[in-house]
Amino acid sequence: MTKALAIVTGAGSGIGRACASALGKRGFAVAAIDIDEASARETARDIPGARAYRADVSVSAQVDAAVSAAVADFGPVEVLVNNAGILDGYFNAEEMDEAVWRKVIDIDLTGVFLVTKRVLHEMLPRGHGRIINMASVAGLNGTGGGAAYIAAKHGVVGLTRQMAVAYGARGITVNCVCPGAIPTGLRPHSQAILGPGVPDMSARGVAVNDDQVRALVPAGVRGKVEDIAGAVCFLASPEASYINGHSLVVDGGWRAK
Ligand code: NAD
Repeated sequence: MTKALAIVTGAGSGIGRACASALGKRGFAVAAIDIDEASARETARDIPGARAYRADVSVSAQVDAAVSAAVADFGPVEVLVNNAGILDGYFNAEEMDEAVWRKVIDIDLTGVFLVTKRVLHEMLPRGHGRIINMASVAGLNGTGGGAAYIAAKHGVVGLTRQMAVAYGARGITVNCVCPGAIPTGLRPHSQAILGPGVPDMSARGVAVNDDQVRALVPAGVRGKVEDIAGAVCFLASPEASYINGHSLVVDGGWRAK
């Protein structure tokens, strides 16, 4: 039997890699998309039958090429995980560089729109599909990022709800996951993608060291990428078929405060 296809963006690292791996273990054929093709290939190498594709999610022609290639390789898309994203350096509005603002909104919000739009052209004619967007606690709270990141992630939560309403009667569910503090390469990767001129963000933020995490998160520790992948797999499973437009918070209790 052919496997159903799950596309994961930002699959070369961190949460995306864990989602790709967990979906692969649950029997999906995995298309691992990342702007960093080498890292996507590494992810795919460890998942039987998976393939890697390079695309910048903020460039529609690249999104179209990657999704078209994945569909040609594997067949119809059943699951889309919009996970690619970058941090903004935790700048407040008055100190935020316009170019950083635009880049973060482009990748974190417009990227979700572009990939989803392309994949909906595959899902809508078939009348089913699951779309899972990686938002953040910063998509619900006014902390956890700077002005651009928080605006983008709130946008992802809003877009999730709008699309859930628009496509719920057409067999497609759209939900998001809101992770708390999860150790990944997000800061150095974001720094590299934003390029020179952006101040060092390694020590900026609200959950930078263990003391800050203990003060912020009732669980007292950071979560694991597998915790987030588990939530994504649940939302992709038959048990979640009546869940639509939901923001699933996975944060060790941070937001409950
Ligand atoms: P990560 O840097 O380890 O992974 C992000 C991946 O996205 C990288 O492989 C990167 O190359 C890729 N990427 C970045 N820009 C891209 C683009 N334009 N096109 C395609 N791929 C691109 O970071 P992560 O922590 O695993 O982040 C994954 C998602 O989880 C992000 O959306 C992030 O905002 C969200 N998130 C992370 C945390 C956390 O604490 N780590 C918390 C809340 C939300």
